[in-house]
Amino acid sequence: MQKMMKALVKRDAAPGLWLEEVPVPQYGINDVLIKIHKTAICGTDVHIWNWDAWAQKTIPVPMVIGHEFVGTVEAFGSNVNDLKAGDVVSGEGHIVCGRCRNCLAGRRHLCFRTSGVGVNRPGCFAEYLSIPVTNVWHADPKIPMDILSIFDPFGNATHTALSFRVLGEDVLITGAGPIGIMAAAIVRHSGARYVVVTDVNPYRLALARKLGATVALDVREGNLRDVQKQLGMQEGFDVGLEMSGSGAAFRDMIDSLCHGAKIALLGIPESDLAIDWHKIIFNGITIKGIYGREMYETWYLMTSMIQSGLDISPVITHRFRYTEFRDAFEVMRSGQSGKVVLSWME
Ligand code: NAD
Ligand code: ZN
Repeated sequence: MQKMMKALVKRDAAPGLWLEEVPVPQYGINDVLIKIHKTAICGTDVHIWNWDAWAQKTIPVPMVIGHEFVGTVEAFGSNVNDLKAGDVVSGEGHIVCGRCRNCLAGRRHLCFRTSGVGVNRPGCFAEYLSIPVTNVWHADPKIPMDILSIFDPFGNATHTALSFRVLGEDVLITGAGPIGIMAAAIVRHSGARYVVVTDVNPYRLALARKLGATVALDVREGNLRDVQKQLGMQEGFDVGLEMSGSGAAFRDMIDSLCHGAKIALLGIPESDLAIDWHKIIFNGITIKGIYGREMYETWYLMTSMIQSGLDISPVITHRFRYTEFRDAFEVMRSGQSGKVVLSWME
């Protein structure tokens, strides 16, 4: 008889998630079956819950969702020879083709045939997850499980924050969501001089201060020009990390940069947005789009930053058991949270 497990399933093409019994996933010769300990909720999961236009055209129904996790190795296929049962693992949620030009050149994060765990194929909000061994991150078991459960968004923050040199630089981060907050801690750890974070949410701005922002600015109450003056900055910010998806924030950023500045763009705007291209051109601004994490340089850097004392733990503000998923999603939606972690054990 097939072994069954509990899972959070997008069962119907409608808002919500359903806690169901589904078969434990099969694993092939190159796959690893992971026993899930903890998972974290991403903004993407909230889109899937809400069943917005993006979710409707992207998510197959029914399917187990979720992509941020930590667990232990339960079993593996016959081609897998460098893992053993019980090893602590997290995983890269972007499954790449391995055959395109970028994959072959080792630039797997630029694969044009990426498939997403919990988005295009079954995810980790479940007692078990099966993924290819090439997507398994063999974690340092000394790192707390809570922290490992958020390695995916921590990786978005790291990939963005370390895209340009920040040592000695002034960094502007627009958006104090969980990723913006972690990015503030990362650039601080990496030797930035001033780290200014903007948002319109006082709860999250307070968290950003806690994780190392020099100034956390509510843009409804103040402006970046005054902050720059107050800090004694002679020229604009050297590096901008856009992590809000807001057009207003992006335009504000462009107005606050020095000539020759660099922008790493992670936030996803809801629709087309206009910017003053003259400022990009005449001020010599570089803009880099960021998707996912570098496989696996970002994972390596996350690990070594934690090992060298980076503390991102305050970004986790709420913990629930998986059966309380409704409360967990409610907290996420309220905006009065950092990362929300679900436990799947016992
Ligand atoms: P989030 O939605 O929790 O955070 C966005 C924050 O921006 C919120 O706190 C919001 O209050 C703030 N904001 C809104 N308007 C603002 C304004 N005018 N100025 C400053 N801040 C403003 O998102 P998150 O999970 O932290 O992710 C950050 C962004 O990155 C989101 O847009 C998300 O969709 C995107 N993302 C991209 C990738 C990728 O691979 N490119 C991966 C994950 C997330
Ligand atoms: Zn590829």
